Amino acid sequence: MRSLALKLLLAFLTVSLTVAVLGAAIIHVTTQRQFADLTLNNARQTFIDRATIYYRATGSWRGFARFLAQGQPQQPLQQPGNLQRTPRPPQPIPNPDRAYLFLLADQDGRVIVPAEAYQVGEVLPQDVLAEGTPIEIDGENVGTVITTGDPLPLAQREIQFLQSSRRSLFYATLVAVAVALILSLLLTRGLTRPLRKLSAGMRATAQGELGHQVEVRSQDEIGQLAQAFNQMSADLARLNDQRRQMTADIAHDLRSPLTVIAGYVESMRDGVLAPSPERLETIQDEVQHLQRLVEDLRTLSLADAGELSLQPVNVAPDALLKQVQAAYRHPAEKKEVTLQVEAEPDVPDISVDPDRIFQVLANLVSNAIRHTRAGGAVTMSSKLYTANKIQFTVSDTGSGIPAEDLPRIFDRFYRVDDSRHGGEGESGLGLAIAKSIVEMHGGSIRAASDGPGRGSKFTIRLDAAE
Ligand code: ADP
Repeated sequence: MRSLALKLLLAFLTVSLTVAVLGAAIIHVTTQRQFADLTLNNARQTFIDRATIYYRATGSWRGFARFLAQGQPQQPLQQPGNLQRTPRPPQPIPNPDRAYLFLLADQDGRVIVPAEAYQVGEVLPQDVLAEGTPIEIDGENVGTVITTGDPLPLAQREIQFLQSSRRSLFYATLVAVAVALILSLLLTRGLTRPLRKLSAGMRATAQGELGHQVEVRSQDEIGQLAQAFNQMSADLARLNDQRRQMTADIAHDLRSPLTVIAGYVESMRDGVLAPSPERLETIQDEVQHLQRLVEDLRTLSLADAGELSLQPVNVAPDALLKQVQAAYRHPAEKKEVTLQVEAEPDVPDISVDPDRIFQVLANLVSNAIRHTRAGGAVTMSSKLYTANKIQFTVSDTGSGIPAEDLPRIFDRFYRVDDSRHGGEGESGLGLAIAKSIVEMHGGSIRAASDGPGRGSKFTIRLDAAE
C-alpha cells in the first residue's frame, strides 16, 4: 500500500463497486416489489372486470359468490331480466381456507364475497370501505372491492421473468464494474502522472540539478503545486548562480588590492623599491578599499540574517539631507558638481536609525556625484508623499542608467559598466546595502532614469513617525 496509484485505484474501485452493488440491490428489490404490485393490480382488475360483467348481466350481486366459486354463473348471464324478477337472498359460500384474495361488498357495504375476518352479510365499517376500489357501472357505485391478505404466489412464467431480469441485472453490474475498473485505471494514471513527474523533479533537484522544470498542464491543485515547484526550482537556480557569482566577485575584488599591496610590500622587502610616503599611501588606499569591502559584506550578511540592529529615533527628513549635503560638499566641489537640497516645509519626522539612513542617502549621493560631470547638479529632496509616507529623492544630471540595467541595479556586485570596475572604491554592493537597509525600515527604494546621458533618480519612501 505504498503507492498512491494503488490507493487511488482501490478507492475508486471501492466506491464504484459499492455503488454498483447497492444500485443492483435497490433495482432488484424495487423490481420485485413493483412486479408483485403489478400482478396484484392485474388480479384485482380481472376480479373487478368479472364482477362488472356479472353485475351488468344480472343486475345484482346475487349468486356472484357461487359464480366465482364455480367459475361460472348460476344463471345464464344473458337473461338479466329473469334474475331481477326472481331476487334471491345472498347465499353464504363455504370459505374454508381463504378462497379469495379480494373481498366484495355491495353498494351498502354488505359483504358479498367474504375474505379473512369478514363474513357474508356483514356490513363493513366505513374506514375499511374507504380503502377499497369502487366498482362503478354507468356512473353508479354498485360495490367495493377490497384487497385482503398477501399477494398471490407468482406463476411459473412470472418467476422465469424475474429470474431473467435478475440475471440481466447481474451482467449489467459486472459490465459496470469492468467499465469502472478501466475508468479508475485511466483516472489514476492521469492523476498520478504529474505527481510522478514532480517527484522525479524533486529527486533531480535534490541531486543538484537546480532549475529543473516540470510540465504544467492543469490549473488544479496539482498544477499549482507544479507551478510552485517550478518557481522554487528557478529561484534555487538563480540563488545558486548568485552565490557562485558573488564568491567569484568577492575573490576578484579582493585580488586587485591584494596584488597591489603584495607587489609593493615584496618590492620594498627585497629593496627593489624604497618605501616612500606616496607608495605607502597607495598601500593604505588599497587597505582602505579592502576594509570597506569587508565592512560592506558584513553589513549585507547581517542584513541577510536579520541581525542588522536598528536604533530608531525620530528625525526630521530635511535635517538628514543637510547632514549628507555637509558631508559631501567637499567631494562635490572638487568635481564641480552642485549639490543642493530641496526640502518641503512641515514634513513630519520619520522614525529611523539615522546612521543607517544617512549611509543610504550618502551612498546615493556619492554615486550621483561620481556619475555626474563637472557643471552638473545633484539634488536631494524630501516631501510628504501620502498622509503617512515621506519621500526622499536623489537625482542627478549625470550619465543615467540604461533601461536594461535598471532592474538589476540593486543586485549584489552588479555594475552597469564593468570597465569602470574597481575604480573609485566601487564595489557594486552600495545599492544592495541601501535596499536592505530601506526594506528593514519597512520602506521601498526605486531607481529611474530616462536613459544614458539623461540623469538618474532614486526614490525612497518611508513611513512617517507616529
Ligand atoms: P558601486 O559601488 O559600484 O557604485 P552600487 O551598488 O552603488 O555599486 O551601484 C551599482 C551600479 O549602479 C554602479 O555600477 C553604477 O554604474 C550604477 N549607478 C548607481 N548610481 C548611479 C547614478 N546616480 N548614475 C548612474 N549610474 C549609477
